Amino acid sequence: MIRYSLACERGHAFDSWFANSSAYDKQAKRGLVACPVCGATKVEKAIMAPRLARGDSDKAIDVPAPAPAPAAPAAPQATEPVAMLSPQERELRTKLKELRDHLVKNSENVGRKFPEQARQMHYGEIEHRSIYGEASPQEAKELHEEGIEFHPLPVLPDERN
Ligand SMILES: [Zn+2]
Repeated sequence: MIRYSLACERGHAFDSWFANSSAYDKQAKRGLVACPVCGATKVEKAIMAPRLARGDSDKAIDVPAPAPAPAAPAAPQATEPVAMLSPQERELRTKLKELRDHLVKNSENVGRKFPEQARQMHYGEIEHRSIYGEASPQEAKELHEEGIEFHPLPVLPDERN
């Protein structure tokens, strides 16, 4: 037995079994192969499904259906930033905490003197060392404008306030 995927002149697709390929040719020629949807006997072979039944249907090979076209992207909707920490993010958070602990442990807290100290270091007035402290947004902006490189200390999500 051989299965053919067929399509009628109106485009209906259907499958039909035949003893062999010449049996299909004969039956189709004599108008014996009719579309189950509209009854049209003008049918054509579509893609031949390579499923050969030999009394052992367990060994039949199924060709995977072609992948569906990717769905159109959903229309953008107004959203609010929200977060649920995945295991990876929890790990990242742990690393951030380690980084921050390392920074805090290995540098000097100069508090509100940070902008002044950072500036003195930048201009070579005092020796370079690792410091951390506080700077107002205005002070941070000024430091940046003077080309003084510094970084915000990582703030952990549950340690605000
Ligand atoms: Zn049809």
